[in-house]
Order: sequence, then C-alpha cells, then structure tokens
Amino acid sequence: MFKTGIKCSSIFDIHYTLNIKYYIRKKIIIVAEIVRKKLVKFAPKGKDSFHEALKNRVNDYFVTNNISTYSNTQMYIKTVAMLSMYFVPYLLMVSGLTAISPWLFYAMWILMGVGIVGIGTSVMHDSNHGAYADNKTVNMLLGGVLNVLGGYSVNWRIQHNVLHHTYTNIGGLDEDIETGVALRMTPTRELKPFHKYQHIYAWGLYCLMNLYWVIAKDYIKIFAYSKADLLKNEKKTKTSALIELSLLKVFYIAYIFVLPIMFSGFAWYQIVGGFVIMHVIAGFSLACIFQPAHVVETSDYGAPDDDRKMENNWAVHQLLNTADFAPNNKLVSWFIGGLNFQIEHHLFPQVCHIHYPKIAKIVADVAKEYNIPYQVMPTFRSALIAHGKMLKRLGRNENL
Ligand SMILES: [Zn+2]
Repeated sequence: MFKTGIKCSSIFDIHYTLNIKYYIRKKIIIVAEIVRKKLVKFAPKGKDSFHEALKNRVNDYFVTNNISTYSNTQMYIKTVAMLSMYFVPYLLMVSGLTAISPWLFYAMWILMGVGIVGIGTSVMHDSNHGAYADNKTVNMLLGGVLNVLGGYSVNWRIQHNVLHHTYTNIGGLDEDIETGVALRMTPTRELKPFHKYQHIYAWGLYCLMNLYWVIAKDYIKIFAYSKADLLKNEKKTKTSALIELSLLKVFYIAYIFVLPIMFSGFAWYQIVGGFVIMHVIAGFSLACIFQPAHVVETSDYGAPDDDRKMENNWAVHQLLNTADFAPNNKLVSWFIGGLNFQIEHHLFPQVCHIHYPKIAKIVADVAKEYNIPYQVMPTFRSALIAHGKMLKRLGRNENL
C-alpha cells in the first residue's frame, strides 16, 4: 500500500513516518532551502520608522513605570499553577490514589493535557525566548521543562526563535506553515485536489500533532538541522543531539509509561489510552492557539522578490502577518500565555508575556500613527472561524 512513500504522503503528513527515509530526505531538502534563502533581506527600517518609534515608546513605558521586562509575582504564581496542573495529577496517578475509579484516572490524563498547554504557552515559551528571567540558568531550566514533556528544547529554539520569528509566514522559510503536503498553509505550496477539504480535516490532524512530535518529529529535525548547519547555534552536533534526545526519550518512556504501569493500578492499554488522550488534547489546543495568529484572511504572506529582497521592513512584515485575538478575555489571556497578543509577542519576544496587554495599547497607537494595519479579532471563537476560512481559501485558490 505504501510502496513509494510518496503516495502515502499525499494523504497525511503523519504517514511519512511509515517511510522515514523518504521523509527525512524531504525535510532536509526543505531546511537546506531555508539556509539557501537565508539571504532574504527585509527592507531597511529607516531612522524615523515605525519600528524605531515603537521601540522608543515601549522602552519609555518600562522606564517611566520603573518595571522590569521580565517576570513578576503574578508570573511566578502562574508558573506554579501551570506546573502543578501537569505534575500533581501525574503524582496522584502513580501513587495509586486514582485506582478507585477509571474516570478519575482518565481525568488526570485530561488535566495533564491541559497542563502541557499551560506550561507550553505560559512558562516554556517565555523561557526559551529568554524573556522569563534576567538569568540564563532560570530560563534554561524552565525552558528545559519541554524536554520533560516529550519535546526537545534545542530543536524548538531553532524552529521557533530562529525560523518562525524571523521569517514569519514566508513560504519555505517559516517551518510553522511548512506542515507537509497534507495541509496548504501558504500560497507558495502546491495546491492539491484534497486541499479543498482541509478546512474540515485540519482539525483532526491538529489532534495528532503532539503525538507525532513526541514519537518522531525531533529525530527528523535533528537530521534536517544538522544538514542545514543550524545545530551549531545551539552548540550541538548531530551525534550529541541524537544522544541527548535518546536519553530524554528513555527518561520519558520510563516515567510516562513504566511507572504508571507499575504503580497506578491500571492495565498498560489503559495507560496508553490516557497518554493518547493527553496528547490529543494538547496537540489540538496548541494548534488552535498558534495557527489563528498567522494563518488568517488578513495575513499578506509577503514573499521576497527575485533578488531575495522583501518589500517591507521586518516589523511591518510582522504586523501584516500576525493577528491578536480576544484581548479583553482575561481567562484566555491568562491561560495561553498572552499568545492572543501575538503581534506584541512577535515585535517584543524578549519581553515577558505578562506585560503584553499594556504594550498592546502602545503598539495599536503607533501602528495607527504610521497607518499600518493592526489586526485584532474580538474573540477566540472569531479567531478560529477566521483560521477555518483561510484554510478553505488556501485549499481552493491557487493564488491569494
Ligand atoms: Zn515565540
């Protein structure tokens, strides 16, 4: 059935793992292209530019109010809450306290899935950007929590901090929109007949995203980033990264499968079931948080010209390809780590997200002064609808 690997890839990206060699080769080609295209040059920002004015105004805000750009007490409380959401249910499970009811047992896995989302968006993300604390060790330790959750922070920093944040929504460069052939997230991807239905099946694929990440993605990325010479930014070689990742996987398998099998009072298949539920919740939620910030109808997908030059400077490009949502929803803003203020995050990734609601007002004002669109969707629901609509357009129109 999966004779060539190419056939299966035209169904779902996840099936690439059935022909791992083909997939790795394909991924390496994409990343090699990224390096080749690194010559992309954004337009100069200019002396009296939007970016300069904005940086000055935001800097004034922190100086005038005498506040640090890093975490504060509110953020420490949030960190404890998020870490507890994952680790407390785990401890209750392995201590055998949930053995009285399968419902209670599965509820723990559900909570852990929610905890992954909270830690990922509110703790790990800031830390890996160096925004959590003015202390490298604290950022490294909290950023490293990702390794405990089944990911690999080295790869994450390359994909997210380097590729996604620099080349947002640029086809072939931003890996967040290079989701394999199954989804067409950018007009630069070839349109396939089945993309017509992607606004329907994308949500199902989002459910599998985390499982794929935990099982295969990081290994594939190590090969790709090694080939593209990106691992050296993280002071890693292919071998050292593969050894480190494999040790992390052994640790992960031991605590997420072996200990619960030994001590939770439930059978192995129930533990595998709980594990799948946890990652389906996490994968679906994370995709629903991240994708509506960039893949929406207002995004312009600016691309370099034949000389590899971009029309706009970097800050303007960020505004044209990013959107905020639900800015007045306090629960959403608290839980998803300010990622509903994605514009502010892309312009100031080194500022802790706890400050974004305040900065948002300044960014909106300066954008208005410079006549640059500042996209805000009023609710989380409206953001999801806008993302669905964009998937539909990208699935039907060759050129947007
Ligand atoms: Zn980020």
